[in-house]
Amino acid sequence: MAFDVDFFVIGAGSGGVRAARIAASHGAKTVVAEEGRVGGTCVLRGCVPKKLYVYASRFADDFADAAGFGWTVGNVSFDWPRLVAAKEKEVTRLSEAYRANLVAAGAELVRERATVAGPNRVRLMSGREISAQHILVAVGSAPSVLAGVVGIEHTITSNEAFDLAVFPQRLLVVGGGYIAVEFGSLFRRLGAAVTQVMRAPNVLRGFDEDMRIGVRDAMARAGVKFRFGCLPTRIEKQADGARRVTLSDGATVEADQVLIATGRLPQTKALGLETAGVPLSAHGAIKVNDGLTSVTPSIHAIGDVLHRVNLTPVAIREGEALADRLFGPGAKPIRYDTIAHVVFGTPELGAVGSSESDAAERFAKVDVYMADFRPMRATLSGSPERAIMKLVVDGETQKVLGVHILADHAGEMIQLAAIALTLGATKEDFDATVAVHPTAAEELVTMREVARRYEGGRRVL
Ligand SMILES: Cc1cc2nc3c(=O)[nH]c(=O)nc-3n(C[C@H](O)[C@H](O)[C@H](O)COP(=O)(O)OP(=O)(O)OC[C@H]3O[C@@H](n4cnc5c(N)ncnc54)[C@H](O)[C@@H]3O)c2cc1C
Repeated sequence: MAFDVDFFVIGAGSGGVRAARIAASHGAKTVVAEEGRVGGTCVLRGCVPKKLYVYASRFADDFADAAGFGWTVGNVSFDWPRLVAAKEKEVTRLSEAYRANLVAAGAELVRERATVAGPNRVRLMSGREISAQHILVAVGSAPSVLAGVVGIEHTITSNEAFDLAVFPQRLLVVGGGYIAVEFGSLFRRLGAAVTQVMRAPNVLRGFDEDMRIGVRDAMARAGVKFRFGCLPTRIEKQADGARRVTLSDGATVEADQVLIATGRLPQTKALGLETAGVPLSAHGAIKVNDGLTSVTPSIHAIGDVLHRVNLTPVAIREGEALADRLFGPGAKPIRYDTIAHVVFGTPELGAVGSSESDAAERFAKVDVYMADFRPMRATLSGSPERAIMKLVVDGETQKVLGVHILADHAGEMIQLAAIALTLGATKEDFDATVAVHPTAAEELVTMREVARRYEGGRRVL
């Protein structure tokens, strides 16, 4: 049976663009539909603007630290609209580069919303229908809203936070995940009074316990006020525009903006997947096999819509693997077990592999090595900042199961540690590697004493 196209990609974000480019380069007739700007979440309202704002926020620490190194910094001031405009210029440049690369690879771009109209059919907003041998659903995810909260319409999500017309002098962040932590940390440093509330007893559920405590303490030192174990129940907009937020513990907080960062869900509503017999999970995620194909052999999915590992490089890797399998030489398996996760607070948190508690549950013997120290820069600056590094090691094989770093530039360090874990490095390999001095990273190869030991899930040291 002849189809209009070989490959129809819905969504030109991180994953969709990569899949389309690779498929087109293998000679597949490829069309991509995008309802917004090319580049998706990462480029326009995720990783890229976030990191630019994190850079902006850290000048606050630089100015404060400078005196200890002999500098006198005059009066400093921060201009929010200038940062927003500079960010917009850069993401526009990147979005255009993504579009140009897509077209240069030979894919056709359709700037419309698309929905699935059958196992091999796609319907565009304009009503036009296109038949395709393969359909890739790469529609990503969107912020989930807090159901049942009165006045939720007076809040914003990460989508709006980057482009606020007026800088919020008082910000209430709701949520304890990495996006909430990053926004809390960066807005505090840009000058906002930040209150952060979450249902959980601490930030960053799923990360190593010592690192969670380290991040919480660093944020508290920077001036973020936490309220754990509660959520907003009512948000009222007052005559002067301020929000009055009632929390589940009865307290009230006043803020200029309320940022809801309580998670993200796949954008699969009204996408027509039922017409192709593709079931959705309770969260709206598409279930796929190891080859990234749904129960319907012509419908595939990658990236955030899978609701598994919501990170740009994962979406990209999956897009590439799928296109190589369908139209190219075949795909190499994706290593999900050594994906590093970074939280771009200040300092950064980088983690790869098992946390201490996770390893203690899964392995018969576990040794934990830890360093908690004052970074060199803090000696002259006088900053109370700490750095924490941890190696989680299989006590039987000496294989390193996890590396956790809370320090400046942890994002850069953890990428290299992830390579070591992918290679199956042991503690002896770390020890055999000569240190780079003076750095923080040298701690990773100079930790000699076991700090904690677990046997059969029980702590014995
Ligand atoms: C604030 C924030 C910070 C982040 N920081 C990081 C980070 O530091 N590092 C990292 O790795 N990841 C980060 N992420 C996650 C990262 O952005 C996502 O994992 C990644 O963008 C997922 O790629 P994707 O291709 O699955 O979806 P997306 O990039 O979201 O692309 C989906 C695209 O599909 C389009 N679309 C949706 N429905 C349709 C339709 N029916 N028709 C046509 N088009 C449609 C959307 O407009 C969008 O352009 C961050 C996310 C957020 C929100």
